[in-house]
Amino acid sequence: MLFMSSAFKTVFTFLVGRPLLAIVLAAAVVGVLLLGTHRQDTPVTHRTQHVKLTDAQQMQLGSQEYAKTLRENRARIVASGRQYAEVQRVARRIDAVASRDKPNFVWKVTLIRKREANAFCLPGGKIVVYTGILPLTENDAGLATVLGHEVAHATAEHVAERIERQHLTEVAAMIIAGGVAFTPAQFVRLTALLGVGAGLPFSRSQESEADHIGLIYMARAGYDPRQALAFWKRMARASRGQEPPEFLSDHPSDTHRVERIQGWLPQAQREYSRT
Ligand SMILES: [Zn+2]
Repeated sequence: MLFMSSAFKTVFTFLVGRPLLAIVLAAAVVGVLLLGTHRQDTPVTHRTQHVKLTDAQQMQLGSQEYAKTLRENRARIVASGRQYAEVQRVARRIDAVASRDKPNFVWKVTLIRKREANAFCLPGGKIVVYTGILPLTENDAGLATVLGHEVAHATAEHVAERIERQHLTEVAAMIIAGGVAFTPAQFVRLTALLGVGAGLPFSRSQESEADHIGLIYMARAGYDPRQALAFWKRMARASRGQEPPEFLSDHPSDTHRVERIQGWLPQAQREYSRT
């Protein structure tokens, strides 16, 4: 069940018995929500985007998925100790930089005890890190590389773009408006787009953009961007083993990744020298 406020619950209960009214109402709400497409420039790469879901709507979608993830992993949440402190420390610095591009987003990070080498940031700024990635990040700068990349997916509104491209914006808006009137198939496709733990299908160009923005973010946060190269080389080595890290299977790697990062390095080092 989706998270709903008690007011929505009352309305929802009322509408369940009146499906036609529910559909008309939902369509009206969606019509209002979708009047304006907002245009934004992506941070760092300055690509013009046309996205209909507002910051507030993206935050609500992300928060619902975040609450679900935390509920499902309640017994595995790490709330103290060295790894917890490291994740909080690095996330705070990266989030402070990302906030300049997305001042409305509310950033929060949770560390979950899992062997999977993975991390993700939901739309609106809610971050989840699995302990399994920490042996690969090795140090704060390595973790800043991962968090910079993940947070960049959120500030560049990549999920909203994917939702839009799959013509699911109306479904998303309806879910945000209280979960009335959607087909199960659409709902499954939408949650697959949000279901980051299970492999968020970002496009290759979005991945590359997240690498670029993330590199600049880590530099602005005061981490040596050359450490990003060291991290991606470690990941490439690890992926030659029998089981490549999940982080790479979610984020398809290619031989050009390190070369592209090398190309952005002078820009990143200028930003780093200003910190
Ligand atoms: Zn990615």
